[in-house]
Amino acid sequence: MLIHIGIDDTDSPNGMCTTYLGALLYRELSRIAEPLDLPRLIRLNPNVPYKTRGNGAVTMSFDADEGVIPEIKDTVLFYVSQLSDFEHENTNPGVVFFEGEIPDELREFSLKALREHVTIQEAEKVAREVGAEYFKFKLGRGVIGSLAAIGYPLERFTYELLAYREPENWGTPRRVNSESVFRVDKWAYPFSYDNVDPYKRSVLITPHGKDPVLVGIRGIDKTKVIQVFERVEFGEPVAFYQLYKTNQNTDDHLAPKKIGELKLYDSAVVRGRVVGEYWERGRHVFFELEDDTGRIRVAAFEPTKKFRNYVRKLLPGDEIIAAGGVKEHEGVLTLNLEKFYPVKLVPKVEYQKPKCPKCGGTMKSKGDYLKCKHCGYKMPKKLIPVEVLRDLEKKIYEVPPDARKHLSRPLVLPGGEDKLLELL
Ligand code: ATP
Repeated sequence: MLIHIGIDDTDSPNGMCTTYLGALLYRELSRIAEPLDLPRLIRLNPNVPYKTRGNGAVTMSFDADEGVIPEIKDTVLFYVSQLSDFEHENTNPGVVFFEGEIPDELREFSLKALREHVTIQEAEKVAREVGAEYFKFKLGRGVIGSLAAIGYPLERFTYELLAYREPENWGTPRRVNSESVFRVDKWAYPFSYDNVDPYKRSVLITPHGKDPVLVGIRGIDKTKVIQVFERVEFGEPVAFYQLYKTNQNTDDHLAPKKIGELKLYDSAVVRGRVVGEYWERGRHVFFELEDDTGRIRVAAFEPTKKFRNYVRKLLPGDEIIAAGGVKEHEGVLTLNLEKFYPVKLVPKVEYQKPKCPKCGGTMKSKGDYLKCKHCGYKMPKKLIPVEVLRDLEKKIYEVPPDARKHLSRPLVLPGGEDKLLELL
């Protein structure tokens, strides 16, 4: 019989990681039941406020004899109760078990949890309707992610290999040879990607928190991902590792919407016209976008670094396709930009001084007059409109790797443009 297991919200910034728990369980359960596939790391709506890092939940499926089902459930509940970081107020684990084929209602719930905000009550209602068994620890908010992960139709996927540290090293700086990561990245990119940030010369595979993860290596080719892991030089022991199948870097979170439909915490792609000039506050760049249903503030925040330069080049009247997450900023609904594509650019006009009509020399502004630098000829100041280059191409602009959401597909991968170009 088929049994699906979903686990979420076991960790906090102080420690643990749901993938660690998932990897331990996958090993343990594979001894008593037949795994259907690799364990799956499902990222859900990146805009929800409760997430620790990337709003990830873990799920795995087994073909099991009916007799071992109670042992499977007991093992999962035991691990979650022993290893979750219950001390932290924002850790509210949830575990879900579902037996049999995944019904459509569960798939729909997953996609909602991926793109919108859902409540614990909604998740419980769906669980009851489809006959899923769920367990809540503390507030039990994790039932949302656990149920959504089980029902997730993982049609597009990538891989992440997660290697874990020995417990005595948790909380200490990770010892990974940077040079080896740069070397292997050159060889494996883009089949394995996000290993380094070439502009900042920094290593991206090592997290920075107290969690048990030593490195996470991503890719579209699982053999390459494993080979990258084998070639990286570690200065500390690897306790064990697990390859996950994941919806990271699939853009699955982006759903086409009208601006007027956007709600807090939505992930969406919209098409609209830029209204007015951009403005800056702190180092964040803002502008407004409208379509025939409404208007929304759009933001490129400071961590998106040079991506902001492209945003600053947009002009009122430009038509763009914009992808991102809806959050509240200073009490205003704001689309946090992840990628954009200029569809139609208005002409950019600059007013320039004419050449001297007498000698062809360069004119200089003198109040209301222009005066030739060469022959001294004077004339009233009348500037000439000249159309200048827009300096924005018809291509997708994306935020740099360290500001990118786990779900966002980098343009270097096939299909990185698809979700935006659908709205062309
Ligand atoms: P990590 O990536 O390290 O595992 P995390 O970022 O996944 O941590 P969690 O601790 O899992 O963070 O917390 C996210 C919480 O948000 C979970 O309780 C999950 O059930 C809940 N959640 C997931 N999707 C939604 C959604 N669409 N609406 C509301 N809550 C959600």
